[in-house]
Amino acid sequence: MCIFCDIIDGKIPSTKVYENDKVLCIRDINPVAPTHVLVLPKKHFDDIIDCSKSEDGAVYLDAVSKAVAEVAKIDGLDKGFRVINNCGEDGGQTVMHLHFHVIGGLKLTEKII
Ligand code: AMP
Ligand code: ZN
Repeated sequence: MCIFCDIIDGKIPSTKVYENDKVLCIRDINPVAPTHVLVLPKKHFDDIIDCSKSEDGAVYLDAVSKAVAEVAKIDGLDKGFRVINNCGEDGGQTVMHLHFHVIGGLKLTEKII
């Protein structure tokens, strides 16, 4: 069982921002900024490593990049934003379905890099 697969399948409700045949973009249930959107590939990959091993991984990553641009446009993030992918235990990943956080709508100050 994967909570993001259930959201993609419509079994668990979510607030949709953007969707196409490859990705679903939803508002994070616990937002850390005015815009906090999760970009979910509609195909289950555990993480970016799993995706990299898949024959169609690049197709989904291409769709992710385009969806990020759509989300930025929809939420008016014309001054910039941050895209985060947490991978694995040390990366702090808590949901084991590849996803990208799009965070913006404020001046982001806390930087590691
Ligand atoms: P990560 O820690 O990178 O794996 O991110 C998982 C994210 O999923 C967290 O920011 C959670 O707040 C978010 N999340 C968990 N369950 C839901 C849900 N049902 N709807 C929307 N976001 C969720
Ligand atoms: Zn999944």
